[in-house]
Amino acid sequence: MIKEYLNNINNKETNKLLVSLKSYAIEHNVPIITDDGINFINQMIKIKQVKSILEIGTAIGYSSLSMALNSDVVITSIERDEVMYKEAIKNIKIAKLEEKINVIFEDALELDESNLSKFDLIFIDAAKAQSIKFFNKYKTRLNDRGLIITDNLLFHDLVVTPIRDKNLKQLVKKIDNFNNFVVEQKEFDTYIYSIGDGMSLSIKKDVMKWKSLSLHLD
Ligand code: SAH
Ligand code: MG
Repeated sequence: MIKEYLNNINNKETNKLLVSLKSYAIEHNVPIITDDGINFINQMIKIKQVKSILEIGTAIGYSSLSMALNSDVVITSIERDEVMYKEAIKNIKIAKLEEKINVIFEDALELDESNLSKFDLIFIDAAKAQSIKFFNKYKTRLNDRGLIITDNLLFHDLVVTPIRDKNLKQLVKKIDNFNNFVVEQKEFDTYIYSIGDGMSLSIKKDVMKWKSLSLHLD
């Protein structure tokens, strides 16, 4: 299989903490990002020279820690689950990255986003049924030409699988809605990739350029 082939060739994670968090995630059913997914993000961070990141959905801090260990970034991450929040805080302390990663213990849908600064990258990886809400709420916190990356858009291929279970069907429908929504956003150039569990990359267009263009059209 192609995946196996690449898995054997590509460099593996060697950081001891990240390796142990991966086993913890498997053991405790924590849906952390795939190797493909985090490598995609980490390389985007380097290409775009991203300095500040907002993450919605910290879980045990795996993706935050990987980003902070790979590049010189400051991260604000939001988590609503107390058990996850505490695990994340513990792990960030072990890595001595308290100065770089700030976890906010709150529901991201309730948090007053106007108190947040602006970010170069927003990574949406929380409740999958709410992605449109997260996108609309937090896009106001994105710098011009900033990136929004959203995870789990293929949902273990369930977006193309017939489903009987009513709740699951509804959830998958919402993910499908998000996918159609995100590619239509006019202020962004967006493409959905089948990396990891499916990720969209949305690049915010330059607002000043946009305004002057539309002035010319008037
Ligand atoms: N980004 C992590 C994985 C996050 S899993 C990684 O890849 O390592 C999704 C997390 O989002 C869960 O811990 C869940 O508790 C949290 N979450 C879901 N909805 C949320 C909300 N509305 N506000 C804050 N956190 C939320
Ligand atoms: Mg995810």
